[in-house]
Amino acid sequence: MKPPRFDYHEPTSLEEALDLLQRYGEDAKILAGGQSLMPLLNSRLSRPAALVDINRIGALAYIREHDDQLRIGAMTRQRAIEFSPLVRERLPLLGEATTLVGHLAIRTRGTLGGSLVHADPSAEYPAVVTALDAELVVRRPGGERVLRPAEFFVSYLTTALAPDEMLVEVRLPAAPSTCGWAFEEFSRRHGDFAIVGIAAFLLTDGERCRVARLAAAGVGPIPIRLRAAEEILEREGLTEESLEKAGARSAESVEPDSDVHASADHRRHLTRVLTQRALRRARAGSQRGRA
Ligand SMILES: Cc1cc2nc3c(=O)[nH]c(=O)nc-3n(C[C@H](O)[C@H](O)[C@H](O)COP(=O)(O)OP(=O)(O)OC[C@H]3O[C@@H](n4cnc5c(N)ncnc54)[C@H](O)[C@@H]3O)c2cc1C
Repeated sequence: MKPPRFDYHEPTSLEEALDLLQRYGEDAKILAGGQSLMPLLNSRLSRPAALVDINRIGALAYIREHDDQLRIGAMTRQRAIEFSPLVRERLPLLGEATTLVGHLAIRTRGTLGGSLVHADPSAEYPAVVTALDAELVVRRPGGERVLRPAEFFVSYLTTALAPDEMLVEVRLPAAPSTCGWAFEEFSRRHGDFAIVGIAAFLLTDGERCRVARLAAAGVGPIPIRLRAAEEILEREGLTEESLEKAGARSAESVEPDSDVHASADHRRHLTRVLTQRALRRARAGSQRGRA
């Protein structure tokens, strides 16, 4: 099928794009990499009166270090993130998660911003920004606001963005070399969306776990931060026993639905197993970093 007719705009500046969004309101859709939007248009599940194609706004594609943050423009291609030396060094969890997003062709066009705004709860990037409590910078004509993931993700495929707002930048805490990280997921085939995915990040101090960050994809309408499991690790350290406990607690704290891909029980089981697997790998990484 082909999409219904729409007006097509190709702004070259952010201001121009924001003016167009204001003019069309709910009748406009932003086109980034098109990897999620184009199938929706072609199957006529989305019928915007206008497309605002932001591919010519070069100022929205960058990866920069600023103080202790990595700042990534919304139009940065997933492939640019995958091969960025800065991401590899300062934000390896994001780099690893990127390798699990779809296939090469999808990552070549798909953008960080598009994936976050599409807000598929099984996607990797929403889980990573939730684990790291990233700042999501949103612009509208004449204003800006910064949202945390818990405010940004509202429900399945739904964010807190108003029709005249655009995600412009994602700010993530840069990781020290002694951190450990892992993104573990289970999917039927390589490149499929995860049935369950776990993002894990650890900062250790000797035997102590100073900071634990965990988030799950595929177990609810939005990515879920696994705070109860984080608290176990920060309180009891990274022994085998506490890792087991954290995995079990993670499984208890999610409320997945059953669907054609997996039952709720299976998703809970995967949450436990993948949390433990991610934590073991993150722990080994942080020990190597200290050595
Ligand atoms: C076969 C296939 C397999 C895939 N597998 C995976 C996978 O395993 N994991 C995964 O995470 N993803 C997967 N994807 C999705 C892929 O990652 C997409 O690239 C991503 O979801 C959307 O990014 P995009 O840049 O293509 O956005 P688009 O499709 O252009 O836009 C998506 C939505 O976001 C809005 N939007 C885009 N940018 C902005 C912005 N800056 N501000 C406000 N709104 C904006 C658009 O209006 C639209 O509603 C897959 C896609 C396909 C086709």
